[in-house]
Amino acid sequence: MRCLVTGGAGFLGSHLCERLLNEGHEVICLDNYFTGRMANVAHLRDNRNFELIRHDVTEPILLEVDRIFNLACPASPIHYQFNPVKTIKTSVMGAINMLGLAKRVKARILQASTSEVYGDPAVHPQTEDYWGNVNPIGIRSCYDEGKRVAETLFMDYHRQNNVDIRIVRIFNTYGPRMLPNDGRVVSNFIVQALNGEDLTIYGDGSQTRSFCYVDDLIEGFVRMMNQDEIIGPINIGNPGEFTMLELAKEVLELTGSKSKIVYKPLPGDDPKMRRPDISLAKSALKWEPTIPLRQGLEKTIVYFDNLLKTK
Ligand code: NAD
Ligand code: UDP
Repeated sequence: MRCLVTGGAGFLGSHLCERLLNEGHEVICLDNYFTGRMANVAHLRDNRNFELIRHDVTEPILLEVDRIFNLACPASPIHYQFNPVKTIKTSVMGAINMLGLAKRVKARILQASTSEVYGDPAVHPQTEDYWGNVNPIGIRSCYDEGKRVAETLFMDYHRQNNVDIRIVRIFNTYGPRMLPNDGRVVSNFIVQALNGEDLTIYGDGSQTRSFCYVDDLIEGFVRMMNQDEIIGPINIGNPGEFTMLELAKEVLELTGSKSKIVYKPLPGDDPKMRRPDISLAKSALKWEPTIPLRQGLEKTIVYFDNLLKTK
């Protein structure tokens, strides 16, 4: 099949392109390189089934494809808050453009949605039927509400035009090919620890997140796309839940770093706790994560260690 991966030069997108090529598909990687890097897919460029297109999803594009994975959108708070108007345009106009394409060529289309649609959740762990607790006017809203509108558009194109959709709600995912300056917590702590800098905990470090290793996430994506029973939304994440203080201590232990922990102000609207209920993924996709946090952190530390040494 010919697969289009928007945001294909980013962290998750590059792993997805690689996986699809390994399965024998043709892959068109589309990216505007805002947070993605050509280097993430450089090793794929000699593959004759791989094609790169510099394009912005806020503009329409005509392509003949069988499957679309819509990942284009900055995911780290510092990047999606850098140009919030552009972020919401990317989610909303990107969804409209990609859904229009899917409709025209009758392609199956998957949306990379997010646990952020639950906002600062009042239900814990989060099930797919929870409608969320999102501030519509805060600093995270450009991302959260953009992704919520994208889900609405996916459902409406499905109901109104019979577009073959899939919606995946991704919980915090980490691994190799995150940018060293990505700004998300796992890459921040690892890079700080390896550089002997202070680890920056925002707030008192009691807030929780559930971290999924990238390979597990991609397996969930592929299973969701390859089945005909459900369209989602479906939670894909690792239910192991950790406080940011626990994460910082784990990174210090695994790196053997002498770095100290320092506390910085908590950004506005930072969710206090987050953990996926993955019952649906277990029953419908026979999927669950296989890589515990410690093991995933070890692999990610090796990646950043090599990256920082070659800089
Ligand atoms: P990332 O920032 O590494 O990747 C996003 C990619 O999209 C980048 O390559 C970027 O250049 C590209 N992009 C951004 N705006 C674009 C535009 N207007 N046109 C074309 N390309 C554009 O982030 P990621 O972690 O790989 O996230 C990928 C997707 O998964 C995003 O949609 C994100 O919202 C979603 N997601 C990720 C996580 C996570 O923990 N990694 C969690 C929830 C949801
Ligand atoms: N965080 C932190 N130190 C950092 C970066 C992030 O303590 O250097 C915190 C952040 O405030 C949040 C959690 O870690 O509570 C996860 O942040 P991230 O940006 O990775 O993801 P998100 O908040 O979008 O889940």
